[in-house]
This record gives sequence, C-alpha cells and structure tokens, in this order.
Amino acid sequence: MCGIIGYVGCEDACPILIQGLKRLEYRGYDSAGIAIQYGSQIQRYRCAGRISQLEKMFDPLTIKGTTGIAHTRWATHGEPTEKNAHPHTDMKGDVYVVHNGIIENFHILKRKLEKKGIEFSSDTDTEIIAHLIAIHFEGDLSEAVRRAISMVEGTFGIAVIHRLVPDQMVIARRGSPIIIGVGDKCHYAASDVAAMVRYTNKVVHLNDNELALITKDEFTLSTLHAKPIHRELETVEWNAEDAELNGFPHYMLKEIYEQPDTIKNATRGRLEPSEGVPKLGGIEPVWKELKECRHMVLVGCGTSYYAGCVGRYVFERLTEIDVEVELASEFRYRKLNFPPNTFVVAISQSGETADTLAAIREARRKGAKLLGIVNVVGSSIARETDAGVYNHAGPEIGVASTKIFTSQLTILTLLALLLGRHQKLSLTEGIEAIKAIRELPDLARKVLAQDNHIQSIAEKYYKYSNWLFLGRGYQYPIAMEGALKLKEISYIHAEGYAAGEMKHGPIALISSEMPVVVLAPGDSMYDKVMNNIQEVKSRKGPVIAIITEGDNRLKDMVDEYIEVPRTLEYLYPILTVIPCQLLAYHCARLLKRDIDKPRNLAKSVTVE
Ligand code: GLU
Repeated sequence: MCGIIGYVGCEDACPILIQGLKRLEYRGYDSAGIAIQYGSQIQRYRCAGRISQLEKMFDPLTIKGTTGIAHTRWATHGEPTEKNAHPHTDMKGDVYVVHNGIIENFHILKRKLEKKGIEFSSDTDTEIIAHLIAIHFEGDLSEAVRRAISMVEGTFGIAVIHRLVPDQMVIARRGSPIIIGVGDKCHYAASDVAAMVRYTNKVVHLNDNELALITKDEFTLSTLHAKPIHRELETVEWNAEDAELNGFPHYMLKEIYEQPDTIKNATRGRLEPSEGVPKLGGIEPVWKELKECRHMVLVGCGTSYYAGCVGRYVFERLTEIDVEVELASEFRYRKLNFPPNTFVVAISQSGETADTLAAIREARRKGAKLLGIVNVVGSSIARETDAGVYNHAGPEIGVASTKIFTSQLTILTLLALLLGRHQKLSLTEGIEAIKAIRELPDLARKVLAQDNHIQSIAEKYYKYSNWLFLGRGYQYPIAMEGALKLKEISYIHAEGYAAGEMKHGPIALISSEMPVVVLAPGDSMYDKVMNNIQEVKSRKGPVIAIITEGDNRLKDMVDEYIEVPRTLEYLYPILTVIPCQLLAYHCARLLKRDIDKPRNLAKSVTVE
C-alpha cells in the first residue's frame, strides 16, 4: 500500500534511500523508517510522521553502509507510531524487513510464535514476517524468505536484509508491487518506479509468488518453489512526475481506476464463502451487543454521508435493524434520544472529519455505542469508537473521494450481511451474496473499460451549465453522489434528486439545455424510473442513462447510455457510481479545472 525502496551497491545507501523515500511521499504515509547495513551491523531509524523528521534523527553522511532498505508506512495494523514503523526485526535483530500489504493470518501465526516464546515488539502484521524469516534462516536468505512467505496469507511486497549475509537483499511479492531497478554496479528495489526513476530506467517487475536475490552485480529471480525465472529488462519511459501518477494525468483518475483493487481490499480475508457470512475482526469487541442491535444511525459528511444513505437501503434489505442516516453536522446539534443498544456508525475517510468526530462524542454522551468505518488507521475516529472496520484502501490523494466511496459501500454491505445472517437471511442468501461480492472487482473493471465511451459523452455535454441526476431506492444516493462529484471538480451546477420527486419541483427545470443523468439499472425500481425518463424526454431533456448491460428497451429510449454488468440489486450502487465519477472527471478535464485540488475544498475537513 505504501512505499518501499531498497539499495545494494557501491555507494552509501542512506542518501539514495532518503531521496527514494521523498519520491514516494506523494502517496501519503503516516510514518517512515530506514535500515542500513555495514558489514554485520545494521542501524535502524524510525519515526511517526514525516521523512523530514526521520532525517533529523541522524546525519546521512556519517551513516556508512552500501546496502539498505527504507519504507513509508500507511498503517493497516497498529497505530502510526515509532514502534510500528518499518523496518521490523526479529528478537535478535538479525533480519530487517519492510512490507507493503496485509498479512491476513498474522493473528494465528502470532499466537503460535508467542507460545514458542517469541516476543513481539510492535502491533503490526509485518513483524511476523521478520520472526518467520529468522526462524527459517540457515545461511541462505532466499530460502528463509521462501519458507516464511509460504506460511503467510494475504498480500505483500517485501524487501529483506540479514545481518549475517551482507551485501544481499531479498525481495518478494504477492499482490503488492515490487520492482527491481538495474543500475551501474548496483541494484534498487522499489514498490513504485517513482522511487528510483532518478537513478535508473531499467526495471524488472516481479509477478505474484516470485522472489529475487539481489546483490550489487546481479539479481536472481525465482518462484516460490525455487524454480529459476528469466525475465528481460524493461525500459521505463516516464520521468519522475509521470511515475508518481503511474501514467495517469491525475490522482483522481488513478484512484477511480484503483477501485477493482480497493473493493477487493475491503473484502480481503473477510469473506467466508461456504458459510455465507463475512468475518469482520474489527467488530469483535462489540459483537455481543451488535448482534442484538435493532437501531442504528449512520453518520458522515459529503460522500461518506451518501455512502451511509446507500447503507440504509442495504441494511433494510438484509437485516431487521431500523437505520437512520444523518449528516454529522446536523446530528451533532440534534436533541438525541436513543433506544437502548443503539449503534452509531461514523463513516469517514480520514477519521478526522471534525463534524463526524463531534457527532460521535455527542452520541457517546447520550449512551450510544460507536462503530467506525475509517480508512486512516489510528485516526481520531478509529480511536474514539468502540470498534470498527478499516477500508484498507491506501491513501486517497484526489480531493474528490472516489475509491473510498465504493470501499465504504462494500464494507457497509459486509456489515449488513453479517448482521443479516444472524437475524433473517438464509445460508443460501448468504452464499449468493458472497459470490456476488467476490465478482465485484471484475465487474468494476468492465465498467472502467467503457471509459472512452464515457469520455465521448462528456465531450458532448460538458458545456451545459446545469445538470440533474435522478435515481430511486438504492440509486437515489448515487444520484446525489454523482451530482456532488460533478459540482466538486467541474464547478458545473448539478442536483441529485429522488426520481419520484420530479413532479414536485425539478421538472420545471427540464429543457433541452439540461442534461439528466438517470440511474436506471434493472432493479425493482426499473419501471418507475422508465416513467421518469419519459417525463424528461417529453420535455426535450437530453437523457444519459446508466443501465444494465443489454437493456435494449432503454437503449432505444435515451440519448446516451452507459452499461453496467448485472449484479444483485443492492450491489448495483458500487458499479453505477463509477460512470458518474468518470463523467465528472472528463467534464472537469475538458473545462481545464484543477481536478485533484478543486477550488475552496480540502481533502480532510478538520474544522466545523
Ligand atoms: N500492514 C503493514 C502495517 O500496517 C504495512 C502497511 C503498508 O503497506 O504501509 O504496518
């Protein structure tokens, strides 16, 4: 998720690694660390916070050593503190490892190792890797890494050094990128070309379940089963800035395209297909009460609030819980009166949203129990709630939230499904749901594949200055989110409306000058939405419809259509929002807006 840079060569590693870390800063991180090897000595420095703070801990010119690894961390397990920052080491301080990703079975492995007397010095999942490598090390670092990673489940990109084998580094990958950079009498390893493009443009990508032993003169690539692999060098044509964006012109677009992965990350290790029940470790502390919960309030601001609005429909469909959704800024000033065993669920990307934080503090005072759905580990909301579920979506840099929204929807669905399975859903329904949830990343990829088509629609309509977004049921909040995306980054005036409200006001606005985006997948509201489309068409409003694949009836009726693949009714919002995000993005780009930093907006709103 965050950044790795490693070096084996002839020059001092420290300045090279610090430079590399700085090139990774754009990704966002919460802590950083470095380990440099000089003969059989390894010096390690770590800190919570910025790389500039890390630099203050030592004088790079006095740190000798031509091999080293460094990391910027985006915490997933354990707060962003110095003791949790990477590199992590074993009890003897022999092995040093930096890791991106999540080790899903670390609790089980940790319990086993603790029984053998191994003491852990951090709260991270990563530390398990260092101990496992140390246990298996018999002089061959590649072999030790191979054995260690065959025991772990989850995702990793790792770089490892060992005190007793100087001038070597071993890297490995499963699900989280790691790349070798080939220099002159030196090699680099990085999670992202941005970290090394300054030094070399010759790279070799590792695939899943591959590892490499790297020295200054060569690298040896092999599989998890020690089968050698030959792979040609690739030449990177990017400069440092392109590399940060991975070839995308904006972070927002990059993040829209990350959604198949972030949806998957929201479910990783959380699905039990045969039981048809999700597994959410983060809510265990409150499970007894939560299981009995019959009243829930979802609170958030902006996009997170709309995620809550979708969540309400999903909870109503899957559980027996009465769910309210509230804007945090309103909720905090209301006269609150909760029935017993009410859970208030705070939804916030940053976990620092001031209104949401104030809302949960008020709810706590009135006796509610608190859950959080938060992306930033160790953030205020994560700390102040009784339990919660992390998004594990990596940093979101674009101010307009995209990948976190679909991740929030995925998590809300998992939570509803979990509770629903204990309240009313059958095993068959649970299995069906999990099957459909597992398909979502591929379905999201299919929606993204229509990007060129969506761009051509934007080219036709971006000059219109007023838009309307309509949806019903599950799609009503998507209409609001679609309108919000458009106004946030393109500054076009847009409104999101419940389609059924049309005749109570907005229909007065319809004319050939007002594009209307209609969310019309084939769900239970389909026929009603068809009527709304007729109403718009008969007033000459251009209709851009988001429809289910192959819906010829609607294709013939509307001016433009974008297709999403078939899924369960309550999962459609995760797909239908993607065309809205792309439409907003392309309109904003055509209008030459500052897409990643739209005027007057801040990424994390930490003031009221
Ligand atoms: N899961 C690891 C941690 O929480 C790695 C996080 C990352 O990818 O930065 O420390």
